Amino acid sequence: YCAKKSLPHLVFYDKAMSQAAELKLQLINSLRHAHSLKQFTLAYQAIVDLHTNQTIAAEALLRWQKSPTEYYDAADFVPLLEETGLIVSIGQWVLEQACVQAALWRAHNQADFRISVNVSPLQLEHLDFIDQVINALEMANLPAEALILEITESALLRQPEQARLTLNRIKALGVSIAIDDFGTGLSSLSRLGTLPIDSVKIDAEFALRLNEVSGQKLCNAIVQLAQALDIHFVAEGIETQQQRDIMTDMGQGFAQGFLFGYPSSVDNFTQTFLTEKHIA
Ligand code: C2E
Ligand code: MG
Ligand code: MG
Ligand code: MG
Repeated sequence: YCAKKSLPHLVFYDKAMSQAAELKLQLINSLRHAHSLKQFTLAYQAIVDLHTNQTIAAEALLRWQKSPTEYYDAADFVPLLEETGLIVSIGQWVLEQACVQAALWRAHNQADFRISVNVSPLQLEHLDFIDQVINALEMANLPAEALILEITESALLRQPEQARLTLNRIKALGVSIAIDDFGTGLSSLSRLGTLPIDSVKIDAEFALRLNEVSGQKLCNAIVQLAQALDIHFVAEGIETQQQRDIMTDMGQGFAQGFLFGYPSSVDNFTQTFLTEKHIA
């Protein structure tokens, strides 16, 4: 009697679940073909020096044009690329593409321009990763100092000793390392001081809290930590002038966010943030 009563509900629940699972499978299937269909593109977002206002670098962000009317941000599908392992090969393409673009910007627009590329934990763990970085730099004829690799705290926690070795080798190439989404993970502060890190990207979550004194204190503590370790900070998710002013007052550093610019196409980025070199 009891089981009979709860049955319709169970069936309904089960159906909704399998529909969600079906949708996810379809999405994964589309993602498997997306690369060969040339549906992936990169959007570039400015990284700005808070004190000189110069755009010193761009972060490359993956985008998926699934159909003429369906355009997805990385947040919507990168987790699926990671779940399926597809991120390893697509991440390699991202790295190559971003290096080529950076070399073009350095040749035509700004000689010291740099490019920041997100690296998934899976890529970092891959044995070939260092060779892939070397190849991408060589193919693009990009000097190592022009490249910044963004690594999340979680990537460092999974296999700390292997991660340390890989970071040391990246560093030895002359490539810079940034810790992405800093402050949201569980990385121990003591470990941070022993890794070859050049900058921390303060997660956007902290920018959202800059209108409260407690949030400002928290941000300031991260900035102080960065200064103590002699590394740079990049404040992420800066959307308002107030947030920008508060971060500027905290000291020498960099920022990224909708206030400075949305992630945009190459042409848009070049027009908005870079000027053409004048050849005398
Ligand atoms: P992330 O590296 O922390 O990138 C910043 C994200 O914040 C981007 O979302 C960007 O569009 C968004 N954003 C930038 N400024 C603002 C702002 O002022 N306000 C707010 N609310 N958001 C802002 P997106 O492009 O959807 O990327 C999400 C995440 O996906 C990235 O976070 C990164 O972890 C990952 N991702 C993106 N591209 C790649 C890639 O090529 N490879 C790998 N492995 N991961 C990637
Ligand atoms: Mg990033
Ligand atoms: Mg980030
Ligand atoms: Mg983030």
